[in-house]
Amino acid sequence: MALFINDECINCDACISECPNNAIYEPDQEWSYSDETTLSGTVTTPGGKEVDADAENEPLSDEFYFIVADKCTECKGFHDEPQCISVCPVDCIHPREDYQETEAELLEKKEWLHGA
Ligand code: SF4
Ligand code: SF4
Repeated sequence: MALFINDECINCDACISECPNNAIYEPDQEWSYSDETTLSGTVTTPGGKEVDADAENEPLSDEFYFIVADKCTECKGFHDEPQCISVCPVDCIHPREDYQETEAELLEKKEWLHGA
């Protein structure tokens, strides 16, 4: 499942550089599917939604760092453990119960983001 950052985040910036998928953004930062991925133009997300990968999307939070679920693979394909959780000093990053994915789906998502 994808992860999310809760309101205990102290905006310390430790997690952002650890993410291999560029799924973490600063408060009030616009984000795109194409940031540090091989996606471009019109693409279909793993959830079946057609999107413009290059579009700048609205920030998901204006107060705390946030994770774009469609770009989070729990670090599968790169690391054994979620790197953001490992470095977060206040343990404010948690699994999203509403965004369940199998390991195979997470690995497919990694290929979708970066190519096989
Ligand atoms: S679990 Fe990994 S891929 Fe997901 S947001 Fe954290 S560092 Fe990024
Ligand atoms: S490491 Fe934790 S506290 Fe620091 S910005 Fe990331 S989520 Fe927030």
